[in-house]
Amino acid sequence: MTNDKTAEQNMLHRMIVDFTTNELAPLDMKIDQLGDYPDGLFQKVIDNGLLGMTLPRQYGGAGFDYVATAQAINAMAFGNASMAVTLEGHFKTLEQLLKYGQPELLEKYLPTATKRIFAFSQTESSGGSNPKGISTRAVKQGDNWVITGDKIMITNGGLAQVYCVLAKTEDDQMAVFLVDQDMPGFSFGKREDFIGLRGTPVGEIVMDHIKVPGYHLLGSIGQGLEIGNNAHDDARVLMGAVLAGIMQHELKIAVDYAKQRKALDTPLYELQTIQEKITDIAIAKQNTELLYQHGAELKVAGEPYSKVAAMAKSYGSRSAVSSGDKALQVLAGYGYSREYPIEHLIRDARAMEIAEGTVEKMNTEISLKEVNK
Ligand SMILES: Cc1cc2nc3c(=O)[nH]c(=O)nc-3n(C[C@H](O)[C@H](O)[C@H](O)COP(=O)(O)OP(=O)(O)OC[C@H]3O[C@@H](n4cnc5c(N)ncnc54)[C@H](O)[C@@H]3O)c2cc1C
Repeated sequence: MTNDKTAEQNMLHRMIVDFTTNELAPLDMKIDQLGDYPDGLFQKVIDNGLLGMTLPRQYGGAGFDYVATAQAINAMAFGNASMAVTLEGHFKTLEQLLKYGQPELLEKYLPTATKRIFAFSQTESSGGSNPKGISTRAVKQGDNWVITGDKIMITNGGLAQVYCVLAKTEDDQMAVFLVDQDMPGFSFGKREDFIGLRGTPVGEIVMDHIKVPGYHLLGSIGQGLEIGNNAHDDARVLMGAVLAGIMQHELKIAVDYAKQRKALDTPLYELQTIQEKITDIAIAKQNTELLYQHGAELKVAGEPYSKVAAMAKSYGSRSAVSSGDKALQVLAGYGYSREYPIEHLIRDARAMEIAEGTVEKMNTEISLKEVNK
């Protein structure tokens, strides 16, 4: 593992830390209470060029690799996990376009990705953990495809303008197509009222006979599940980064409190029971950092990273929930109060035991990779 950072990566990191400190962190509690981003905040993300972080320069982006991007997401999540997850959803979708998209599609859509959010849509009421159960259909009509179906619980659903959707062809093969909110037949459905990551919109898209040109197919017919799994891998690395950021936040709150609060004449941090909790949070945070950074490095090196990505999210999500619980106990009564952000950090972390593959499904994948190696 290397800690070398180029000057440009250092600049990105400083820029994200500044943006998070000045624009996001002060609104963290408000975002949770509102259940949305306050007016104008998302525009600042666009104006600061953050949507183009991973986009190659030929399409107008900054072209940062996944190691730098994951560190940026981590720094952002320390201030606000919702916005970090909004960017994670966008970046993982762009990764699939770059890997599987046809040149004509990339030329048409990628230059818009610095201003428009892209989302990956797999889940339906009939298919979550088990995507083969989806009902969305893609029917070939001459050189075009006609897509009909309903996707639910899509990260950035409603905020995003471009969606990669998993569909079944007439002969039940899985494939991914790009649809655009401006296409006839596209509409938005219900926005979920989720308990955590309350800023990140998660919603439904409805596709009623949307006609797309043949080059809107990603990869080839039959490659849909592979693309979906690859999107999961890319998302899990970044979610590991988000979870380490949440734990950094939990740790800071616990440490700051333990330094200023006394149990009679003894500062809390001198009590062994408090030290144990702080130590547990610090170790879990460090382990999650090592996992997501390793996953990002493997991806950049072109090595298999699926297992480490699953470990980062599986270990990181459970740890961030239990670390939040420990931090809450350090603050005790105040920890249980909405006056402090710990309760919303626990709710935020809890989402990542479900999104991008449940912990149970990921753990099955990790164990099968160990058994079959
Ligand atoms: C915050 C958030 C953001 C999301 N964003 C997106 C998104 O951007 N795009 C998208 O497509 N979806 C998204 N989802 C949906 C998410 O991917 C699904 O919720 C998830 O895959 C689980 O599917 P399900 O909810 O239908 O649960 P189910 O699949 O019904 O699972 C129910 C329970 O059964 C267990 N289970 C089911 N099948 C298996 C199996 N094969 N092995 C082991 N255990 C199993 C699960 O672990 C779980 O405990 C998001 C969800 C959340 C909460």
